[in-house]
Amino acid sequence: MTENQKRRKIIDLCLLMNSSGLNQGTSGNISARHEGAMLITPSGIPYEKLMPKDIAKLSLDNGDIDWDGPYKPSSEWHFHKAILQDKPELNAVVHTHSTFATVVSIARDNIPACHYMIAAFGGNSVRCADYETFGSPELSASINKAMVDRSACLLANHGMIAAGKDLDNAMWAAVELETLSKQYYYSKLSGDMTILPDDEMAVVSEKFKSYGQKDK
Ligand code: 13P
Ligand code: ZN
Repeated sequence: MTENQKRRKIIDLCLLMNSSGLNQGTSGNISARHEGAMLITPSGIPYEKLMPKDIAKLSLDNGDIDWDGPYKPSSEWHFHKAILQDKPELNAVVHTHSTFATVVSIARDNIPACHYMIAAFGGNSVRCADYETFGSPELSASINKAMVDRSACLLANHGMIAAGKDLDNAMWAAVELETLSKQYYYSKLSGDMTILPDDEMAVVSEKFKSYGQKDK
């Protein structure tokens, strides 16, 4: 994808995450890697007002906020940058305040292997990062810990992050994590839950490598 196509795609996915009910208002933010830089939504601007030129661009070579663009980047640029810097296999990051992920984050629960799809995020759980104030480097550090060997996490009393190999994959992951959060929440309410054992989750992880249309 060209840089301009990625800028357009970020806006389209922001509009989709709000119209689908996954997010609301100017909560949430989306970023994508482009060559040695990060493209990210600007802070606090309604998504329906965004034009491709409004997406902020930050170098991934440093830990600074210096940006190109007419508006300052998302207040969460710290963690978007840190994830793209630390995980070269991931090229896009979606952050939302989706309802069920946020409900589980308010309980400060890790989501255990209550469904085999948990393996899609790299292991046998999706962790909840310790609470830190939104937009702070401390929040970025707690996310870094929660995302060791994982491509997603919950953010205590805040929401969730899901990353992927490209923008579509990151949005797919965010929808999947919200679905799992909902399933986990209702399972807790039902009072009856069986957690899949680690050896079965290892089998599922292996099976994911050839799932879908990868084998010709
Ligand atoms: P921004 O509008 O600055 O991206 O902030 C939204 C948000 O979700 C903060 O956590
Ligand atoms: Zn947020």
